[in-house]
Amino acid sequence: MEMPEEIFDKVVKIAQSRGFVFNASSIYGGLRSSYDYGPLGVLLKNNIEKMWWKSISNLEVEIYPIDTAIIQSSDVWKASGHVGEFTDPMVDHKPTGERFRADQVPDHIKKEDLTEPRQFNLMFQTNIGPVENENSTVYLRPETAQGIFVNFENVLRTMRAKIPFGIGNIGKSFRNEITPGQFIFRTREFEQMEIEFFCDESEEDKWFDYWIENRLNWYKNLGIPENKLRIREHDESELAHYAKKTSDIEFEYPWGWGELEGIANRGNYDLNAHQESSGKDLRYFDPNSDNKFTPSVIEPAGGLTRTLFAVLLSLYEEEELEKEVRTLFKFKFELAPIQIGILPLSKKEELIEVCNSIKSELGPYFRTEIDVTQSIGKRYRRQDEIGTPYCVTVDFDTLEDKAVTVRDRDSMSQEGNKGMALCPFHGEKTASMSFTDEDNLFHCFGCKEGGDIYKYIQLINNVEFQESVEIAAEKYGFNLTYTDSKFESDQKNLIGSMSKIHNFFINNMKEGKSSESIDYLKSRDLDGTDIKEFRIGYAEKDEKSTNEFFKKNNLTKTDLKNLGLLSERGNFLFKNRIIFPITNLRNETVGFGGRALDDFGPKYINTAESSIYRKNRSLYFTSEFLSDLKKKKFVILVEGYFDVIAFNKLGFNNVASPSGTALTVQQINLLSRYTKEIYLCFDNDEAGDTATKRVLEIKNNQPSEINFFKLNLPKEFKDISELYESGTSDINKIINEKEDLVEFCINKIIDTDNTKKTFQEFKQISSFLSPLEKDLAIGYLSKKIGITKEVLINELNYQSDNEPLSQNENSSRQIKHIETFQDILIAEIIKQDFNIEEELDFLINLNLEFKTLIDELKANKNNNEFEKYQNISYSDTQLKESVARLYIYYSDIKIENLIKKMDESNDLTLLEDLEDLKKKIEFYQNTL
Ligand code: ATP
Repeated sequence: MEMPEEIFDKVVKIAQSRGFVFNASSIYGGLRSSYDYGPLGVLLKNNIEKMWWKSISNLEVEIYPIDTAIIQSSDVWKASGHVGEFTDPMVDHKPTGERFRADQVPDHIKKEDLTEPRQFNLMFQTNIGPVENENSTVYLRPETAQGIFVNFENVLRTMRAKIPFGIGNIGKSFRNEITPGQFIFRTREFEQMEIEFFCDESEEDKWFDYWIENRLNWYKNLGIPENKLRIREHDESELAHYAKKTSDIEFEYPWGWGELEGIANRGNYDLNAHQESSGKDLRYFDPNSDNKFTPSVIEPAGGLTRTLFAVLLSLYEEEELEKEVRTLFKFKFELAPIQIGILPLSKKEELIEVCNSIKSELGPYFRTEIDVTQSIGKRYRRQDEIGTPYCVTVDFDTLEDKAVTVRDRDSMSQEGNKGMALCPFHGEKTASMSFTDEDNLFHCFGCKEGGDIYKYIQLINNVEFQESVEIAAEKYGFNLTYTDSKFESDQKNLIGSMSKIHNFFINNMKEGKSSESIDYLKSRDLDGTDIKEFRIGYAEKDEKSTNEFFKKNNLTKTDLKNLGLLSERGNFLFKNRIIFPITNLRNETVGFGGRALDDFGPKYINTAESSIYRKNRSLYFTSEFLSDLKKKKFVILVEGYFDVIAFNKLGFNNVASPSGTALTVQQINLLSRYTKEIYLCFDNDEAGDTATKRVLEIKNNQPSEINFFKLNLPKEFKDISELYESGTSDINKIINEKEDLVEFCINKIIDTDNTKKTFQEFKQISSFLSPLEKDLAIGYLSKKIGITKEVLINELNYQSDNEPLSQNENSSRQIKHIETFQDILIAEIIKQDFNIEEELDFLINLNLEFKTLIDELKANKNNNEFEKYQNISYSDTQLKESVARLYIYYSDIKIENLIKKMDESNDLTLLEDLEDLKKKIEFYQNTL
């Protein structure tokens, strides 16, 4: 093991020799503890900065960016206490006259040789303008934080900010440190990344903990190993004059643990101080309580340049090769100053030309560099040493076969014609998406997304298949000619007709054909603008003009039937109803929901099933749904049309409603293409709770891993539309306080007076959970009712006829079903005397066990088993369902195995099989 000091020396040396950090004023012999950042240092610093902004711009709370001046009015520093208090105790070493910060005196110096400590102000003082006097004194800012406080009111007003929110500021700060040193760890000029987070005093502890966790994770996410980070809480004597509580995130530097970032609860010290001193009202007006107050502040204050040093120290590695030691920085792809090095094998012009064209292709997406000088081996070493994750090598074969070699920094393995890339479909930081050049396939080992080039375009652009072909054709200059299949042109016609009918309803509303509907909408707090925005229409009571409209537009009874607009008896479904348009993801109207204005018929009716409106797959949402969902990264599900609109009005367009039906697996499946988080906000009553609990039952019956949460509305509101109509309450708070779905369901069943009942109901809940979820659920219940996990497991086992609880009941239940499907299929195969068609043969071959079973039956036709199957009776529909379910079940298992195999062997030829299976699953899912 190397001595830490040696690592320090080596990292400093590479940082200087490779162009990360230079001594300032070096041609004049340098200036102590002042540094310039070289090209790679700037790139690295920019990347850290970008990752900081990115991490705080994607939170459930808003953090506004700001960039404040280095030189502020001196009043700022007087009010903040810096003029009076920003001091460090300084001591002199009597024999040499050297000065030290009292807590940083080197060990070899004797105490008796030191003077008594005296306070030294760390601010750099200068003058503004040509005249030097008391009034022209200004200071270089010693922290970025005060720039935020003095702009609190500006941000609040201009951004209409609502508490809790934060303001983030990155920039240079200056401190006349008494003992700067340890390279860029402590310098007199450095960069800080600070957030001031404003919240209600009652929530300051919660946010303090939140920020510690958030910031610690950020450092881990940079790639700093967990064991090199720790949290240290300040004791009372260490606390700054403004702080109620402070914890540092510390890094283990070669000389020991030291601060990376401080997280402080500053209470309302700073805002009060500036308010008092400036005379400006810096209080926050809370519209919910009609109250004005000074918010509390949590401050995560990190050092950008100090983080850069920690990154260099922790990602430096040495590896012994056969003949040499290679040194490298293991930067993550996102962090690396250069992400892809492009290396021609020789300096020959033809090769350089290819390199130039690769650079111009990759340049817009990645940080690249063409490296020409020295032998290829030395160039690989240099790229390793500056931490470049991938090198693309261009050799003479490239001129012939257009193939390049991709070299991976960490494994040093080289591969042609296939490569790894950062997956654009999930927020990852290391490359885990593989792609092949020849057949244009891709597969991500992280999020499991994969397919061919069209699938890629579909996902990236969020378009359907046809549009993906159009995009590809346009890029490569092909002209497309269209020959619609009958099915496609029928669909287009239906959608065209639906849009006409929708416009007709909109016009009815616009022309004021029903003042009652407008009044009703007004009573739900929706005005003319809303009616227009949400494209709400009206279907008349008297059918006369509706029928005339149909006639004029050549819409026959059959057309209306195909559109799902007729009742079973053949009557038009919508009369005297407010009409909500149900659209597909392209915002084309495919169905309607109608709210009755009289007592005739049910309160709500929907379009019947049609080929453009599949009930179990459709959801009601508004036109901004998809774009907002992509921004916010979660979906809110509510019960009805008015609830969707209420959320829209409250600033959330990422909301949908299964409108009238219980949430289906297919609807979850559809949403899973765009999100991994679903928040349920069904009605605040028993029926709503039952619908919520039902989601638990079905959530694991589909392939994606989705986290479900429950939004809890205040008790006095029946649903979100009531809350919206009341004009009160803080929706962000409700969203921030979302409850995990499993925990919600457990809380509902806890009955401390009847633990037996609680256990029984818990067993029922847990039967829908995966083994891991079940384990967590038991842990949660144990905490809630104060019975240890072990006792609980025993108790639950006892109650379940000694069936071990850790076994996955869900999957065993599923297997029971699968056995039934298998039985039906085997019965059918026997009926056909084993002469089965290709598709069934493929199905049987998907699973070795199933195949062996069938082979054995074929070989022993006369045994009892055989007879058992002959006695099974089933319908055609049951047979079809069995085939579909078995395809899905076996393909899923096979896909898992293929992925494992690909992970181990890196054999990307298996991608094609994988894609075939996925298509099969999709096909059979659609038949169910
Ligand atoms: P220290 O105790 O190391 O002097 P501090 O507690 O005074 O630091 P803060 O005022 O909390 O530091 O500043 C926030 C962050 O700014 C620190 O965690 C550190 O990362 C960075 N920082 C502070 N002073 C310096 C400096 N002189 N050089 C480089 N970075 C610094």
